[in-house]
Amino acid sequence: MRRKLIAGNWKMNGLRASSKALVQGLLDGISGGGPSYELLACELLVCPPACLLETVGGLIAGSPIGLGGQDCHSAEAGAHTGDISAAMLKDAGCAYVILGHSERRSDHGEADALVRAKATAALAAGLAPIVCVGETAAERDEGRTLAVVEDQLAGSLPPPGPGQDLVIAYEPVWAIGSGRTPSTAEVGEVHGAIRRWLDARLGAEAAAAIRILYGGSMKPGNAAELLAVPAVDGGLIGGASLKAEDFLAIARACA
Ligand code: PEP
Repeated sequence: MRRKLIAGNWKMNGLRASSKALVQGLLDGISGGGPSYELLACELLVCPPACLLETVGGLIAGSPIGLGGQDCHSAEAGAHTGDISAAMLKDAGCAYVILGHSERRSDHGEADALVRAKATAALAAGLAPIVCVGETAAERDEGRTLAVVEDQLAGSLPPPGPGQDLVIAYEPVWAIGSGRTPSTAEVGEVHGAIRRWLDARLGAEAAAAIRILYGGSMKPGNAAELLAVPAVDGGLIGGASLKAEDFLAIARACA
């Protein structure tokens, strides 16, 4: 049984003061007056902008909330102005890093091969990559969803190796930040296909350790039904992760 992962992708949002308030809201919600963390049937993760990792990491230290980065470079170190290595994220307290998000793919022209190189670097540094895949609206309309997602998996995942700590996020591009979501049947179809693809590539035993998150306009009102879809092992949450009560409501929907 895979423990569900609820990961918040803050994207380019937050300053120190607002981030402290958000994290405090999360901490208050999972202790003290709110329902205790033990009642949450999931692992919680926040992925703030890089410059807030230290602030957020300090606040969540000793709590059950984990820390993740939003991207890393594929090289260990060197002349890459503005970039961050996987080792730097690890050193800052991260356990995970989001890679190949559709906004990185579109804003920065990141293709599968680069995502794979980054994921390989992340694993080498001891981070669990959260590798994002998903079709555009046009690709879905053309009936190419599964082919596109399988191509992205084949190109973006690191070469198989023993004991890899890896997460996949299925995020239909048209659902991200749009308020639209696929039907639960459509989500189930894609997650089932990803699970079968992983089984075939890695063998069922190794594949069983890999969680497949759904991402794209998940919010308190639709989280329970999306998280109940077989083969959905959690959520990657953008907008709704910026409000503590919404993020926690999604986490509680795992139960
Ligand atoms: C995302 O960008 O990973 C995401 C899922 O965003 P949103 O929840 O805002 O659709």
